[in-house]
Amino acid sequence: MHTGNSLNTPLLRTIVYVVFSGIILFAAVPRTAITFLFTNSTNGYLEDCHCPSTPYGGVVRRATYINTIRAQQRNTVLIDSGDIINPSSDTLKAETLFRSYVYMGYDAIALGDQEFTFGIDWFMEHTNNLPFICANVYRKTETGLHQLVQPYIIKKIGGMRIAFIGLIGTNVFAFFNPAIKPEIEQQLLIRNPEQTIRSLIQTLNTQADIIVAVTHQGMEADKQLAKNVSGIDLIIGGHDQTLTELPVKCKKTRIVQCGKNGEHIGKLNTTIINARMKKVFLTLIELRDSYMDDKQIRYWIEQYKSAYFNTVKKKKNEPVADNALLVHMFSDPACGYCTDLKNIYFKTLWPQQYGITFNLIYHDIHDPKTKPLLKQMCKAHNITIDTLDYPTIFFWGTVYSGEHAIDERLPDAIKSVAEKMNQ
Ligand SMILES: [Zn+2]
Repeated sequence: MHTGNSLNTPLLRTIVYVVFSGIILFAAVPRTAITFLFTNSTNGYLEDCHCPSTPYGGVVRRATYINTIRAQQRNTVLIDSGDIINPSSDTLKAETLFRSYVYMGYDAIALGDQEFTFGIDWFMEHTNNLPFICANVYRKTETGLHQLVQPYIIKKIGGMRIAFIGLIGTNVFAFFNPAIKPEIEQQLLIRNPEQTIRSLIQTLNTQADIIVAVTHQGMEADKQLAKNVSGIDLIIGGHDQTLTELPVKCKKTRIVQCGKNGEHIGKLNTTIINARMKKVFLTLIELRDSYMDDKQIRYWIEQYKSAYFNTVKKKKNEPVADNALLVHMFSDPACGYCTDLKNIYFKTLWPQQYGITFNLIYHDIHDPKTKPLLKQMCKAHNITIDTLDYPTIFFWGTVYSGEHAIDERLPDAIKSVAEKMNQ
């Protein structure tokens, strides 16, 4: 007669043992999902290039995207690999960019050569609230060598301790602005990146579970680094503006970069298992206009543009409401369509319709003084003067060139800005 407990049969005992031990083993393996958002070589772009081929990018859209991902995935870190500004940036633009980077909440930023566009002292004075990291650059002073910025940052994310170590290439200043290069050569010492990180990895052995190198030296140097130094889980690179469709794998290290000018933001979803980066999935996000402008950054950009244009051409001595929206119109004085825009639409119709006022500055395209200003404004908007149709209107960070573009897009843009302003 069968009276015993079913577990007493050898086969079932084995099955139960295997299943339970499997569950215990599975449960014992710590695994954490972490998302790395990253940018590099954004090169002073506040907005997209307004060009037909790659109309992507802009910190206004990037901020919106970052907030969306942070809301979905708590374990998210935000990294940049340097060259936030570029040699054609002016200091006001650079300050606007740095302010936007603080606002977006970057966790670590590698030092790029272009950050020294206005010299070492200017950089130090304007970035002390940003998390720049670089382990191998030192400043020579009377009291000896001093690390220019912090060498690394350790972040605890999802229970994992992740060390972000900054590195800069030894030859990234090779073609630097001759006006600044002597200062760089005299005052900075750049040590060998491989030796630097090799010894840091040993030091951080007990303090970090994952090692991420945030580098500014280019893809080939990153590959060499991965081959020659073990223990780096991930390299987030920059400087040579490579767009990695897939992570580049060298030995056990993966390398990623996301192109140039802030057109894309990289999203690397990872699963950390037993303190190793086991599963990775890279997406390069094209920052299209379907991502709404972040209102705070849009406001700073418009402030910057007003200040920039006012340094080039002083406003006329006309009383202007404090909250009036700046509009620049470039046209032939004989253009009747433009007269209607000036005297009817901007002056009365749209203010009545949308509850906002405009500070319209008119420029005669035949006036010899107009062209240099227009060139500068085109440069600020990353377009070339040769592509313009007239009339051309600059409003709220966008260029409307030709009657068709103005009719099709400007009223909607004004309506949308008015809604934002009146919220
Ligand atoms: Zn660079």
